[in-house]
Amino acid sequence: MHRLAQLDHAHVWHPFTQMRDWLKDEPILLTAGKGAVLCDLHGKEYLDANSSIWTNLHGHNHPVINRAIRRQLKKIAHSSALGLANEPASLLAARLVKAANPEFTVSRVPTTRNPARSGRRLEKVFFSDDGSTALETALKLAYEFTRRVCGEKARPKFLALDGAYHGDTVGAVSLGHIDLFHKAYSGLLFKTDKVMSPYCYRCPFNRARPERADARTYRRCNWECVGQVEQKLNAQKKRGQPYSAFVFEPLMQGAAGMIPQPPGWLRQVTELAQAHGALLIADEVMTGFGRTSSNFKNRNSKSPLFACAEEGVQPDFLCLAKGLTGGYLPMAATLTTQKVFDAFLGEYHEFKAFFHGHSYTGNQLGAAAALASLEILESTPSNAARAALQENLATALLPLWSQPEVGDIRQVGCVVGIELVRNWRTREPFALRERAGLRVCAAMARRGVLTRPVGNVIVVMPPFCATAKQVRKMVESLSAALAETRLPATR
Ligand code: PMP
Repeated sequence: MHRLAQLDHAHVWHPFTQMRDWLKDEPILLTAGKGAVLCDLHGKEYLDANSSIWTNLHGHNHPVINRAIRRQLKKIAHSSALGLANEPASLLAARLVKAANPEFTVSRVPTTRNPARSGRRLEKVFFSDDGSTALETALKLAYEFTRRVCGEKARPKFLALDGAYHGDTVGAVSLGHIDLFHKAYSGLLFKTDKVMSPYCYRCPFNRARPERADARTYRRCNWECVGQVEQKLNAQKKRGQPYSAFVFEPLMQGAAGMIPQPPGWLRQVTELAQAHGALLIADEVMTGFGRTSSNFKNRNSKSPLFACAEEGVQPDFLCLAKGLTGGYLPMAATLTTQKVFDAFLGEYHEFKAFFHGHSYTGNQLGAAAALASLEILESTPSNAARAALQENLATALLPLWSQPEVGDIRQVGCVVGIELVRNWRTREPFALRERAGLRVCAAMARRGVLTRPVGNVIVVMPPFCATAKQVRKMVESLSAALAETRLPATR
């Protein structure tokens, strides 16, 4: 085993990993990357089929981001945001505010509302380090805002979606509803409510028999999932105090299993939540930065950067991380409204400041990388690349329907989740302990394609620069991996 791999085995504790299994094999140890290709220390090449856990946007080693970081390094890497401002963070905040308040309406669902004029512009940016801290910030701001508006005796409560995952810090875990990750810590957490998510493939209200197509397209239901949200909001209102905030991932829930929302769901539930007095906290840690946009009229038209804009939804909090720096550096942002900001203003001695922050808040290197990434993202070639990637994914995925383990293929923009099942005709799932997802991904890795499953859902989410050929290879390796790992009686 290579010396570096030995050091890893001796000392590194990996996230979300059964370390007993990890220690059995020599790990893949990456040393380089270019575009959608990663390279290990033996020189073996892999395709990055999940954008290095959903972070990388434009490919590795991108000359524009590299140059921006080098330029910034010549000046300064980091200075504190406590009592000090800096150049790239100021520029980035302004740029994010512009991107988060798009001037145009969108076409996924008919909408006449222009969020920019709805009086809920996102004006203020609080920087932090990663997705969890972006959510933690929104949670604390919403909590304190509610208390300031409704009185200090208020006990603000939050509503999240079933299967939600919003990060691993204690507040973010409290919003989470994945027993496997969250149950053990229940003693540490505060209680939040959950409501069913629109998981068409496994929806108890969907009367459609399984077909070889995305379950959203042939569902037979009466939007009971929206009715459930309404019931929950009503019940809470009757208890005397509406929810402080409704927390959601727009268009697609990532770690819940790449669960896409049928068009119109987001608009309906967010309007209901607002009508019931709840703030909207949009977690775009995974969905943001063009990943889930699908509103390309043609390859040269610009699409919104954030999923909320696809349905004309303007949240009160927008949480960003992962792709913010193009996948280069850990940095996050929580955007909010002037109204929330104003609730924290006062005389010094009133102590109304937001007492929260991190040492690396507004990091200069991260902000420089983020500015460069946004520059690329908002360019015409990047729009064209995203439009092409979506098409290439859709085309490459079609043959997968002939695989007996494929129950559902869900694509939103440049994100795909493929749900593996024991029997597609009954939707019978694999038990988690069978590790179907993990085994398939290990077999893909042997074929030079890297991704990580969420349970039994295989994620394909390449960087936007991935070529048609690379996309085909990702999907073909998945097909081959399914055949290699096939359990008896899958057909
Ligand atoms: N929210 C969502 C939707 C996520 O997917 C994740 C991470 N997968 C997080 C929050 C937490 O982000 P981080 O791992 O950067 O803390």
